[in-house]
Amino acid sequence: MRVSLGEINEKLDDLIEERISREFLSAWAQERQAAEDANQLEYDPPNEEDRIWRAILYCTGVDLLDMDGSYLHSIDNFIDFRREIGLEDSCDLDRHIGEHTIRYSKKDFSNDLKIHLKIGCDAKQIGSWAHAMYLKHCGRIDRELEEIMVNLFPSEESPEFELTKKELLELVDNLELESDKEELARSISDIKEIAEDLGDNWLMCPLCQEAWEDTSDYAMVRCPKCNHRLHNLKFK
Ligand SMILES: [Zn+2]
Repeated sequence: MRVSLGEINEKLDDLIEERISREFLSAWAQERQAAEDANQLEYDPPNEEDRIWRAILYCTGVDLLDMDGSYLHSIDNFIDFRREIGLEDSCDLDRHIGEHTIRYSKKDFSNDLKIHLKIGCDAKQIGSWAHAMYLKHCGRIDRELEEIMVNLFPSEESPEFELTKKELLELVDNLELESDKEELARSISDIKEIAEDLGDNWLMCPLCQEAWEDTSDYAMVRCPKCNHRLHNLKFK
């Protein structure tokens, strides 16, 4: 799992502007914390590891409650924290943010939707989150995703438009499948490894030596064991 400074800034911004809930951000940060514990968290850029990690730890506690049941932190506290770690100037940060992190992708959306379902949000909460994210990223979202998000808005207002948890989970599955396909369709020059063609549609990963049967015809394949993307020579 990869986490960037730009992403941290986005999430703090969404929290401060109340586009995402505290519970969502805490669950999001806990996922990254668990990845770090498993030694599977990559920091982007690597020299910002300290700042990114500090922000992740902070985010795990944004939903803490006080003795009286109210939230421990105020929005002003979040603004102060963002300033404290030097992320208040987003112009400055644009240099860190690659083109791909600015855009809200199908994968970003399905990951975020999964967290909402995990922490037990209902269709109404999901509808209002989708609406807020749509307004924020409008014009920089894939057309298909835009339609999916727009279809979630009515859940915000009226129960008859609400999607069931099962339908939402199906949506997550479809989005994951699609974004994976889109990701594999383009050849990526940054990746040098090539899946070894063993013949009869069998490929082998040069990184972990896993062999598997693959009949896809995309430019790239993903190793089912180590999850790395590799060039697919069967692709013509
Ligand atoms: Zn592998």
